[in-house]
Amino acid sequence: APTIVLFRRDLRIGDNAALAAAAERGAPVVALYILDETTKGLRATGAASRWWLHHSLAALGDLLRKAGANLFLAHGRTEDAVAKAIDASGANCVFWNRRYDPSEAGADARMKAALREKGLTALSFDGALLHEPSLLKTGSGGFYKVYTPFWKAMAEEVHVRDPIDPPGSIDGWRGELGGLRLMELDLLPSKPDWAHGLRETWRPGEEGAQARLRQFIESDLANYERQRDYPGQPSTSRLSPHLAFGEITPFQIFAALRRSKSSGTSKFRSEIGWREFSYHLLFHNPDLAGRNFRPEFDAMSWRDDMQALRTWQRGLTGYPIVDAGMRELWRTGWMHNRVRMIVASFLIKDLMIDWRHGEKWFWDTLVDADAANNPASWQWVAGSGADAAPYFRIFNPVLQAEKFDPRGDYVRHHIPEISALPDRYIHRPWEAPAAVLKDKSIELGKTYPYPIVDHGAARERALVAYQSLKD
Ligand code: FAD
Repeated sequence: APTIVLFRRDLRIGDNAALAAAAERGAPVVALYILDETTKGLRATGAASRWWLHHSLAALGDLLRKAGANLFLAHGRTEDAVAKAIDASGANCVFWNRRYDPSEAGADARMKAALREKGLTALSFDGALLHEPSLLKTGSGGFYKVYTPFWKAMAEEVHVRDPIDPPGSIDGWRGELGGLRLMELDLLPSKPDWAHGLRETWRPGEEGAQARLRQFIESDLANYERQRDYPGQPSTSRLSPHLAFGEITPFQIFAALRRSKSSGTSKFRSEIGWREFSYHLLFHNPDLAGRNFRPEFDAMSWRDDMQALRTWQRGLTGYPIVDAGMRELWRTGWMHNRVRMIVASFLIKDLMIDWRHGEKWFWDTLVDADAANNPASWQWVAGSGADAAPYFRIFNPVLQAEKFDPRGDYVRHHIPEISALPDRYIHRPWEAPAAVLKDKSIELGKTYPYPIVDHGAARERALVAYQSLKD
């Protein structure tokens, strides 16, 4: 009888343990993706991620077809769609790769128990993470709250296996499941179509992910440690959306790093380690996106300023580096890590707006929106997180910009209306003499905004609020 393989955020055929096990079993394979917007407790996919998902499913469908199998699509509660697929195909096995968001892991555990109760075989496999969060424990049996000892323990205790080859051919099940077509999942934006910047920037799917990895290793890995903080000369891998959708695995990345002769691999590995750490935290703290990891932050008096929030979202704060980041995000669905830290610090500390508003905006607009990395990073910047930035670290957006975008390349690229400013004013247009502004046809308050807050005063306000939590 056939084997059903469930695809979720593991949209690949290489290093896919569940698919490999199904192919090896010898019976026909029913490859199934279920868009589940019904099961309680699952977080709704953001708009940019829906765009990515559409294209990633199209790419997966192509690869599966070439290997011999159809990708079946369904919409609804996972357990109902699986039950339907079992009825239609006569399958007696259901395989999937594990998920680590506790709400998803809980739903999978319930499904496994229900299937087994019916006498079916239900098996889950590893794939998304180098480590199993339930197995890696501190000396006292708890979970890790600080990155450095976590990563050390990973190095000592976790065996990084080799990736699994994609199945050469798959004996795809030939029946019908009432066939939804991809367009019918309705994942793409219609009016307005805001996705052209995404289309220009990305190639979703497993082949796009592998090409990205190859290009990164050939061109940028050697300079990664030195260059990774400079958003104007992008040198990071941009693998994040591919990782978020499971189009590539950390096992494949580590294997490619082992094969490369490049230096700089240990810094890059340790960044992948932050992803492992975020998942470790999420697994042990299910409400990472909703609740302060440090409960003393519940007493913080955030400002309820929706106007300021909108100004930040649109990239109109008057601080060029912040606005460039927010516009990069809106246009391409991605933002450089250094700039993510700057815009997040600005929202939380300069505007005193609850980090959860920023987390939600990122969740909706990032193509790499990740259930673990996003809330863990926001909590890190806010200071409410596990291994968090110290409360007195308040990024100065101008100094950060001058350090990491010294010639203003990044800002000029994303904010054309001030691109003609000389370097010395590009990160502080309000200090430019009137004659310079006039010469460049820049009218502050009209063609580009004045700063929404004075950073010095905002910093003092934040320090008082943070200090009061400590007291
Ligand atoms: P590279 O530098 O090439 O790193 C390779 C991979 O390592 C990344 O793809 C990512 O999977 C992982 N990684 C790198 N840095 C971090 C980090 N600081 N924390 C966790 N994992 C990391 N990353 C997401 O994948 N999804 C998110 O939703 C997300 N939200 C963030 C929100 C904020 C406020 C901040 C400050 C950071 C966030 N990050 C998030 C982490 C980081 O910014 C991105 O992973 C990184 O910019 C992706 O670009 P890259 O693939 O070129 O990174």
